Amino acid sequence: MEEQKRTNVNEYGEFGLIEHLTKSFENHQESTIKGVGDDAAVIAGDGDWLTVVSTDMLMEGIHFDLMYTPLKHLGHKAISVNVSDIYAMNGVPEQVTVSIAISNRFSVEALEELYEGIKVACKEYGVDLVGGDTTSSMKGLAISVTAIGKAHKQKITYRNTAKVGDIICITGNVGAAYLGLQLLEREKQIFLENPDVKPNLDDQDFLVGRQLKPRARKDMIALFEQNGVVPTSMIDISDGVASEVFHICKQSNVGAILEESGIPLHPKTEEMAFNFKMDPATVALSGGEDYELLFTIKEEDLEKVKYMPDIYIAGEIVEKEEGINLHTKGGNIHALKAQGWKHF
Ligand code: ADP
Ligand code: MG
Repeated sequence: MEEQKRTNVNEYGEFGLIEHLTKSFENHQESTIKGVGDDAAVIAGDGDWLTVVSTDMLMEGIHFDLMYTPLKHLGHKAISVNVSDIYAMNGVPEQVTVSIAISNRFSVEALEELYEGIKVACKEYGVDLVGGDTTSSMKGLAISVTAIGKAHKQKITYRNTAKVGDIICITGNVGAAYLGLQLLEREKQIFLENPDVKPNLDDQDFLVGRQLKPRARKDMIALFEQNGVVPTSMIDISDGVASEVFHICKQSNVGAILEESGIPLHPKTEEMAFNFKMDPATVALSGGEDYELLFTIKEEDLEKVKYMPDIYIAGEIVEKEEGINLHTKGGNIHALKAQGWKHF
């Protein structure tokens, strides 16, 4: 019998696998403006407005652990991570669909809690819940959300349009969600070993909150509009700053120099990194799930951005040949390593 070839998905990694599976697909519809490869797909809309669509799935045991994730928070997060991809296109989300697969472990009351969180998020982001699907699963909970929004033709921001000389900016602060997860995991292990020990998460509201209750940066899209700034490229930070810079550079065919001193870290993140004996810079570069925005602007827009709140200058786009490098606080320059989240 002829032996069938069997390749493990690990050999490709998440992004390699997506590319491998989708590379032979061509778009034939005139209305398909952007297919696979950005934060959201782009479809021709009404006149100057384009429709943007993004979808993401959260799996129990992979993306969340119900031992420490309240269902209400989970519902909120499922919406937040999806609308974040619409904001990453400089778009405004308008509708969501929510699909769930549930095992018989979940009661109606539990699902009501999940939907309470979804409702709060819908209100916060101004989106309507317009559909979805409900099915059973053998084990565990899966939530898939699709977000649909609008972006103006002249203001939509892609990953592949950064230019040499552009300035790299990051909103908010990064690395906190990753450390929040480490804290929750640590307390879980302690609890599993000794259920009598109470979890000790006092004073960790900030880090744990960044993991359990991420907020998509709706405010930044409004701020760009108010200040007349259109980023030259943008991506949301779901896998970590380094990984996102790699995506922008690969797709824009450019290089980058990141300034370690320009990467925004909250003092509590720095402190906890030291407690965990981790390098704060590594946490900031490789820790994911902050759902902040990483974007580039033309140098001439620097004056405007400087006075906008919660935006930090983190580097510059350079020629591709110069590579993707990190300028450390110690004055060294070395190649950036991308260690984003790998789910398999
Ligand atoms: P993000 O982190 O912004 O949600 P992903 O890394 O999940 O983006 O996906 C990158 C791109 O690949 C997106 O355009 C997404 O729509 C597309 N993609 C992901 N998985 C698949 C798949 N199984 N089939 C087709 N396209 C996919
Ligand atoms: Mg994204």
